[in-house]
Amino acid sequence: MIFRVGSGIAIAAALLLAVTVFGKAGRQSGSNPDGLEVLQLRPNFYMIAGAGANISVQVGDDGVVIVDAGAASKADSVIAAIKKITSRPIRYVIDTGADADHVGGNAALAKAGQTLFVAGGGIGLPADFLAGGASILAVENVLRRMSAPTGKTAAFPVDAWPTETFQQPRKYMYLNGEGIEVLYQPAAHTDGDGIVFFRRSDVVVAGDIFDTTRFPVIDVAKGGTVEGEIAALNRLVDLAIPSVPIVSREEGTLVIPGHGRVCDQLDVVEYRDMLMIIRDRIRDLIKAGRTLEQIKETSPARGYTRRYGSDRGAWTTNDFVEAVYRSLAQEKR
Ligand SMILES: [Zn+2]
Repeated sequence: MIFRVGSGIAIAAALLLAVTVFGKAGRQSGSNPDGLEVLQLRPNFYMIAGAGANISVQVGDDGVVIVDAGAASKADSVIAAIKKITSRPIRYVIDTGADADHVGGNAALAKAGQTLFVAGGGIGLPADFLAGGASILAVENVLRRMSAPTGKTAAFPVDAWPTETFQQPRKYMYLNGEGIEVLYQPAAHTDGDGIVFFRRSDVVVAGDIFDTTRFPVIDVAKGGTVEGEIAALNRLVDLAIPSVPIVSREEGTLVIPGHGRVCDQLDVVEYRDMLMIIRDRIRDLIKAGRTLEQIKETSPARGYTRRYGSDRGAWTTNDFVEAVYRSLAQEKR
């Protein structure tokens, strides 16, 4: 399988980000200043890596649709990279979640864009609607988080907030000649995750539900749950079609994770299976009356820690085990 680093996983782990991100051979990629990598995945579809979360870019006659805006500090470089791809204006920024490395560039990217909703367009909006910038679309809880007056994370300025939100399971648009679906996942990484499916490009943007660089971040304090995370991964599996029956063509649906390399359906299946195995181990230990500390001592993530684990940083193996434990403990109540 070309999309997967495959049997070279151990080697790949030691390679540079650029190599792991672009595990698939034969895709055009280009380096930009500021360490950004731009990868063309389809004739009208690109991915930008190195600006925080992976940034997806769909281009066409209607303009540019972006999924995830990356970190605020990289926004100018991202805008420059998009301008190298196309001269058409950014129309939409869709956020898969409310984390700073996904929404940090919202304000700058929206401002660099141009609204589709111009005066006289027949929908009755004033000319200065959104101050003329691109729309920012996300599930309702993303706005709730970003606009919270105080909290653990810094509040975002008003011009970074979503201008369009929804709470239903599916929000759709038809732009640049294809259907775009944003599918609300209510309790996975957090309570505000959106999967974005580009139906004609056949690309699914997963956000932090799927992160090939580490164990899934299940943010229990923000409404994430292990069962919701598994359900969301199953949703990704269901949306994607692998290269069958002609496996040698190495085609199929592309799945863009929140962080890490471009994947296919089988990669998501493996990631989901890993999570289910670890969940089952922890659930059995809880049933056997073990405490969290005792459970940590049994290394329930064994077999996967070399690939996904970490002893330090923002999301350690112990953080992950604890999140699964707390999520399952919550469930029992
Ligand atoms: Zn992220």
